[in-house]
Amino acid sequence: MFADIIIDIKHEKLDKIFQYRIPDRLENELKTGMEVIVPFGKGNRPVKGYVTGITDSCSYDLSKVKEITDISRGSVEIEAKLIALAAWMKENYGGTMIQALKTVLPIKQKENARVKKYLRLLLDEKTGREKLDFYLEKNQKARARLMAALLDHPLLEYDLAVKKLHITLPVIRALEEQGVLALESEQVYRNPVRGSRREAPEITFTPEQQAAVSRFTGDYRAGKRYTYLLHGVTGSGKTEVYMEMIRQVVEMGKQAIVLIPEIALTYQTVMRFYRYFGQRVSIMNSRLSAGERYDQMMRAKAGEVDVMIGPRSALFTPFPDLGLIVIDEEHEPTYKSEQVPRYHARETAVKRAQLEGAGVVLGSATPSLEAMYRARKGEYVLLTMKNRSRMQSMARVHIADLRAELKEGNRSILSRRLQELMEERLEKKEQIMLFLNRRGYSGFVSCRECGQVVKCPHCNVSLSVHRGGKMVCHYCGYEQPKVTRCPECGSPYIGEFRAGTQQIEDLVKKRFPEAKVLRMDMDTTRQKDAHEKILEAFANEEADILVGTQMIVKGHDFPNVTLVGVLAADMSLYTDDYRSGERTFQLLTQAAGRAGRGERPGDVVIQTYDPGHYAIEAAAAQDYEMFYEQEIAYREMMGYPPAENLTAVHVSCEDEELLEKGCHYLKEYILRIKGNVPVQVIGPASPGIDKIRDVYRRVIYLKSPRYDTLVKIKDLMEKYIEINSGFDKMRIQFDFNPM
Ligand code: ADP
Ligand code: ZN
Ligand code: ZN
Repeated sequence: MFADIIIDIKHEKLDKIFQYRIPDRLENELKTGMEVIVPFGKGNRPVKGYVTGITDSCSYDLSKVKEITDISRGSVEIEAKLIALAAWMKENYGGTMIQALKTVLPIKQKENARVKKYLRLLLDEKTGREKLDFYLEKNQKARARLMAALLDHPLLEYDLAVKKLHITLPVIRALEEQGVLALESEQVYRNPVRGSRREAPEITFTPEQQAAVSRFTGDYRAGKRYTYLLHGVTGSGKTEVYMEMIRQVVEMGKQAIVLIPEIALTYQTVMRFYRYFGQRVSIMNSRLSAGERYDQMMRAKAGEVDVMIGPRSALFTPFPDLGLIVIDEEHEPTYKSEQVPRYHARETAVKRAQLEGAGVVLGSATPSLEAMYRARKGEYVLLTMKNRSRMQSMARVHIADLRAELKEGNRSILSRRLQELMEERLEKKEQIMLFLNRRGYSGFVSCRECGQVVKCPHCNVSLSVHRGGKMVCHYCGYEQPKVTRCPECGSPYIGEFRAGTQQIEDLVKKRFPEAKVLRMDMDTTRQKDAHEKILEAFANEEADILVGTQMIVKGHDFPNVTLVGVLAADMSLYTDDYRSGERTFQLLTQAAGRAGRGERPGDVVIQTYDPGHYAIEAAAAQDYEMFYEQEIAYREMMGYPPAENLTAVHVSCEDEELLEKGCHYLKEYILRIKGNVPVQVIGPASPGIDKIRDVYRRVIYLKSPRYDTLVKIKDLMEKYIEINSGFDKMRIQFDFNPM
């Protein structure tokens, strides 16, 4: 017998299958997915590899085929079904097979099992009582204490005896020798989910919830496995719908994976699932220890868990019979991996579901353009919930035009409308959230008088200011000197838009000295659990105002918050990214969803220099359809995803000159092989940061209506790079439909 093996070496040129002979002694034990040790190369040095297949034929010269040395003890094996998924990921996102295999195997190392020890009483009750009397008589206090406890609990936890009863090991050993008790142990899996099992509150589904559940259940029972997009406004009760769908799937003996962005994976959320599924729910996240994570995977494999909740990597939970994958907040950018293979959890979930006969449910209040585009094309089934489940009204949204504020002499970052509403809320002892939707570092340049933003003449994205004073387009490489007057109206009040949460905190404290203010941003949440502590303090109403970045708008319910201020809605609008309109709309909608979650209706003030922008207008009107229509028209016009597909080819090298040359050849090559196929080649351009740790970086963009065309080009480029040693000093990575 022979094994197909992927060698664990970081070198693109070795990214192929090697065949090895399976020695007789391993023939019964060796399985697909196992990690093995094999001799490799001229010196036969031992290296690790993964078995991706077992066959009885060999396609190489038999005399040259080497033998597997051993199975790598202590490693975790990959499920055969996940190997197929890894192959798909390698093909569709680039990178090597070994990188893909490691991605679908989030836990690679076996961890020591935790053992729970017990003391078991071996005597019957009567003999036990006699022993107890005997110990008392002899004044053997420790033995008597233990005996009394054993008579109450014939199976006594070892830890309890040692820690609570203060029994020492020699005492236990002595009674063991006398045949009074036996020491027993049992392997236990660490379970990070603890709680008091409470029955789920009885709720009656709204007609919209019922319709969504019925549609899913009907299809599922009929053996149909689709991908559903559950588009429901904040508070429409999406989580309740997921739980009911999962319940039905679990009832059929299958398991479910629930993906939630890590930041929203709070204790509250987990407890909601716990109330439904009790001990059969588990979580996977980065806060668990290696041992805990390993145990969760083993529990899932062994069928001890029905529902696994976690961030992106929980998608690869090895369940015996996966029935459903739910992706909550499917629009979140964290579902795209930043490491090779740069997979998107949404597409990968759909693929995994297809390989394993499972269904997929994607949920969001603001679906990604991708998901809605597919739903409109009929690839996904659209389920819509337009109303809040408990009939609370949506918040009132006001727009404050910051240009007008400046004209009328208000130079503060707080508009007069916002200040008035803040005063009123502070008086009524209601809470306020102030939100700065700032991301990234690159500042854009805008005119404080007319709102004009300086953009690239070729790309319709804002130019970024670089150190040294140049303004640069990150898409095409266009550059110009920094402007000192507004090109539109000539005003000198033009400059980089920068304001931090700290400045805002100071300003708010000065303006409202009597108010208690909390701040949440990267600086205040460095420490472990700091994030949860701030939210908890705010939930306990220990502060009146919470100032923060986008962290504060994600999935937390504060019933006493009745006012949300978005300080500068434009800030996420003109980042140099074709998704900036979408991100802005999502953030503003989420922020608006924070106001008035309780009984009282809420107000939202959106401050902006560009009140006419469709993303801001649509968010103010809380009208997703309106936003979608405009945004998809823009994407179609510019050929951006999802209308077309985009691949970023990232090239990096320590030698800048060599890098320029390499990029030139790569571009020439692409132009040559693409022939008449509709592919647009843009660049090489400088990415956001064009040098990191002395390594220079460039990016070439490929745009095409067809994804498979881009995959073909990637395959050809990989071959071209492999046979030309000129590329040896360069790192080349592909990113499909980057976020
Ligand atoms: P979403 O995920 O869509 O924002 P949730 O599922 O978190 O909404 O629901 C918001 C709140 O409304 C939760 O406290 C939930 O328990 C409650 N809820 C959901 N559906 C109903 C219902 N049909 N009746 C009463 N309360 C509900
Ligand atoms: Zn101007
Ligand atoms: Zn440009």
